[in-house]
Amino acid sequence: MLTWLDILRFATSGNPSPDQKVKKSDDEWREMLTEDQYYVTRKKGTERPFSSDMCQSFEPGKYACLCCKTPLFDSTQKFDSGTGWPSFTQPIKPNAVSYYKDHSHGMYRIEALCNACGAHLGHVFQDGPKPGGLRYCINAVSLEKIIPVAGEKQTVVFGGGCFWCTEAIFQKLKGVEKVVSGYSGGSIKNPTYHEVTSGLTGHAEVVEITYDPTIISFEDLLRIHITTHDPTTLNRQGADRGTQYRSVIFYRSEKEKSIIENVLDEVSPYFENPIVTEVAPFEYFYSAEDYHQNYFELNKNKNPYCSVVIEPKLKKFRELYQEKMV
Ligand SMILES: [Zn+2]
Repeated sequence: MLTWLDILRFATSGNPSPDQKVKKSDDEWREMLTEDQYYVTRKKGTERPFSSDMCQSFEPGKYACLCCKTPLFDSTQKFDSGTGWPSFTQPIKPNAVSYYKDHSHGMYRIEALCNACGAHLGHVFQDGPKPGGLRYCINAVSLEKIIPVAGEKQTVVFGGGCFWCTEAIFQKLKGVEKVVSGYSGGSIKNPTYHEVTSGLTGHAEVVEITYDPTIISFEDLLRIHITTHDPTTLNRQGADRGTQYRSVIFYRSEKEKSIIENVLDEVSPYFENPIVTEVAPFEYFYSAEDYHQNYFELNKNKNPYCSVVIEPKLKKFRELYQEKMV
């Protein structure tokens, strides 16, 4: 995740190399763009605020550079800034956008350009939403929306107690491509299982789920997560106790955060006790050691924990979500 310090460093000491470079002459750009598009992207113009519906559009998808079609932003990083220009908190990749100091109009600002073709996009400010705190204020005319197609993957990180159980559940869903057990939400890099079980690192046992949003929605994954563990017991799942077993959902954008809050509101009447699930900004995911991966499938006949704890959870899950299973 880029921070304001990264942006200042890029603008001062040089930008990361782009995945591709696109070069055209000024005449070629003028030929392929409309007058407005040419003025904004090639002459550093600014469109009038509120001049595009793109400000209020939050449908899933990516936003590419109008000039060279390189993907620059993802809808999960888009938020409503109220400024009248489409606003994002992060680029799609750290090297998608390049940054330059801009002293025009008597102001000191950081200009954002497409790192592949140099198209002017807008400016970056440090008053965006947490956790990154960045606001990319972008001209809608510099962007082209790409609607998602089957096969474009998203990831989400959930904690619901022992990751052997959580992994076994999500592996069985249609649209889920990959489930990796690991650790998230703690204070040290690359923690070991031993360190995490001490409860001192602050990490939760989690799973990272890679899914196809055209087959299974973020909302459905949230509903399944909440209803297949106990979200009402603080730092505890059954006999497993400790902060590493806390119920947690990590969000990557303000948009995801509000979807999570809506789903929690929707399901809370079904629980006898209040939901204590932590909703936290995603920072890092560390894969767990190999012997934790695919644990239930590999150990169901060996470890009694599988038959005593995991199997009953899977039974409940099968009853609830028959039609969503592989
Ligand atoms: Zn471009």
